[in-house]
Amino acid sequence: MLFDPPPVTSPVPQAEAPRDCPLCPRLVALRQACREEHPDWWNAPVPAWGDPGAWLAVVGMAPGKHGANRTGRPFTGDFAGDLLYATLLKFGLATGTYRADPSDDLQIRGALILNAVKCLPPQNKPEPIEIATCRPYFETALASLPKVRVLVALGKIAHDAAARALGLKLAHAKFGHGSEVTAPDGRILLGTYHSSRYNQNTRRLTPAMFETVFARAVELRNG
Ligand code: SF4
Repeated sequence: MLFDPPPVTSPVPQAEAPRDCPLCPRLVALRQACREEHPDWWNAPVPAWGDPGAWLAVVGMAPGKHGANRTGRPFTGDFAGDLLYATLLKFGLATGTYRADPSDDLQIRGALILNAVKCLPPQNKPEPIEIATCRPYFETALASLPKVRVLVALGKIAHDAAARALGLKLAHAKFGHGSEVTAPDGRILLGTYHSSRYNQNTRRLTPAMFETVFARAVELRNG
């Protein structure tokens, strides 16, 4: 049984891809294979999730196979989501309890989550052409969110996709943990290492490091 209707309501429905978006052949092939293997999973472009009046946009790279690709809600059900949602709760950007399930009572307040690439990529690595092909959805979402003043991008791929969507030249928007750059329209893009299992297990990213970036985002909001 497929999820119907979708388990989350997008705050930017005008920026969502159709369930069978055909634009990236490699990702479509993987989507079809996943549908055959796991017909009870989401297996479709993952919509944004969060507050339509958000001041903060968290930008992920793409759905994880056992996370958003399975559950249909960004970062829900995979390792990376545990730290992300714990951090959002800690900073008052979410309420309720995260149970790694779209039917939990978690609500995001003042923030939302977008992915640079809406479909599951093989080996968790989207190709540049796939990032570029999905960018119009991302750009439409950003254009639909005038209250978003700060973006926190998780990892270089998400950062660079967000930088391009904001009209920044990558030569002037270098990614790093704690990187910060201002876009032509005044929005501020922050970078953090991705909250992936690998980064956390190798201590490349600690919860304290992750929280430092969100603390900076809050500081920027407060002027
Ligand atoms: S990644 Fe984006 S553009 Fe590509 S198939 Fe999925 S929704 Fe369509």
